[in-house]
Amino acid sequence: MRENVPLAPLCTLGVGGPARYLLDVHADLETARRALQWAREEKLPLFVLGGGSNLVVSDEGFPGLVLRAALRSRRLIRQANGIAITLGAGEIWDDIVEWSVAERLSGIECLSGIPGSAGATPIQNLGAYGQQVGDTLIEVEALDLRDGSLVSFHADECGLGYRMSRFKAMDKGRYLILAVRLLLHEQQPARLRHEELARMLHDGGTDSPTPRDVRNAVMTLRRRKSMVLDDADANSRSVGSFFVNPIVTTDVFESVRNAVRRESRAASESGPPAHELADGLVKISAAWLIERAGFPRGFRRRRVGLSQRHALAIVNRGGATARDVMTLARDIRNAVLSRFGIRLAIEPELLGVALD
Ligand SMILES: Cc1cc2nc3c(=O)[nH]c(=O)nc-3n(C[C@H](O)[C@H](O)[C@H](O)COP(=O)(O)OP(=O)(O)OC[C@H]3O[C@@H](n4cnc5c(N)ncnc54)[C@H](O)[C@@H]3O)c2cc1C
Repeated sequence: MRENVPLAPLCTLGVGGPARYLLDVHADLETARRALQWAREEKLPLFVLGGGSNLVVSDEGFPGLVLRAALRSRRLIRQANGIAITLGAGEIWDDIVEWSVAERLSGIECLSGIPGSAGATPIQNLGAYGQQVGDTLIEVEALDLRDGSLVSFHADECGLGYRMSRFKAMDKGRYLILAVRLLLHEQQPARLRHEELARMLHDGGTDSPTPRDVRNAVMTLRRRKSMVLDDADANSRSVGSFFVNPIVTTDVFESVRNAVRRESRAASESGPPAHELADGLVKISAAWLIERAGFPRGFRRRRVGLSQRHALAIVNRGGATARDVMTLARDIRNAVLSRFGIRLAIEPELLGVALD
C-alpha cells in the first residue's frame, strides 16, 4: 500500500490530486481482502482504477483507498464454438488486440488503439468502428468490494448497452473486475459495420480483410483523429470522447434539423449526421452539435481546449486542472442545450468532480 500517490500521472488527461492510499491488486486476493477490511474499519471510501484513460479526478484528489487492478495473465482455450481468451484485468487492452490479431483471431480488431486495461472494457462496453466488447464477451470475474467474495457474471447479466453496463449503473463502484473472458474466431473474415472503415479498406483494394488489415486501417483512422495516445501529439492528452452521441426520438431529430434549416435559410442543410436505430430512435453526432454550438475543433481556453482533430475530445493543453476541464465541459453542455434543446451526457467517470 502506498500513501499520497499523485493520480494525475496515472490518468491520460493528466489532471487530479493524490490518492490517500493506493494498492495494486495482483493474484493474491487475501491482501486485497485485508485492505478492504481495513478500509471498512477506517471508513475510507474505495475507488477502482484501471489505466486512467476514462477518468477525471478532482484537484483535491481522493481521500480513500484506490485499488488498481494489476493482474496480468492471458489464457487461450480452443472450444467447439471458437477460441476463448481469458485476460487478467491489468492487461493493457491494445496489447491484447495486437496479440489476437497476430494469432489471426477476429472479434476485437476494430477495437484497436484504445488505451486502458482489459478489466475496464466491460464497464462502458468499450466500442469503436462498429464493434463493442459485448459482441465477444462471455463472462466477467470480479471481487465484490462489499464482502470480498468472488463472483462471475455471464455477458447476459452485465446489462450491456451503448457505452453502458451494470458496472456503470446500478453496481457502480461495487466490483473490482479481475478477469474478462472473450470468444474470438479463427479464419473468419472480419465483419465490417462501419462505413468509413469499410470504405478505407475497399479503396485500398482489400475487399476480404484479415484482422491485421482491419487493425492497420483502424490505427490509421484513429491517428488521423488523434485518438491514439502519443506523447508527441498534444491533441491526444484527453479521455478520448468527452461526450456521448445522444440518442433521441425522430421527433427531436426533426426539430433540430428544422431549426438548423430555418437558421441557415438553406434547404440543402441536412442537420447533424445521424444513424437510425430501432424503435423510432436516432443517434446523432455530438461533435456536430458541439461545433455548431460555438465550440469548434481546436477551440482554446488557456490551459484547456478541444482537440484540433475532434470536437468531442477535451484536451489538457499543459498544466490544466480538473476545474478547467469541468468548466469547459459545463459550458459546452449548456451551449448545446440552449441551442438545440439536447442535454449531452458525458462519457468519462468523474471522481470527486461533478458537471452540475
Ligand atoms: C485517446 C483515447 C481514445 C479513446 N477511445 C475510445 C473508444 O474508441 N471507445 C471507447 O469506448 N472508449 C475510448 N476511450 C476511453 C477509454 O480508453 C476506455 O473507456 C477504457 O476502457 C478505459 O479503461 P481504463 O483501464 O483506462 O479505465 P479507467 O479510466 O481507469 O476507469 C474508468 C472506469 O472504469 C472503472 N474500472 C477500471 N478498471 C476496473 C476494474 N478492473 N474493475 C472495476 N472497475 C474498473 C473505474 O472505476 C472507472 O469508473 C478512449 C480514451 C482515450 C484517452
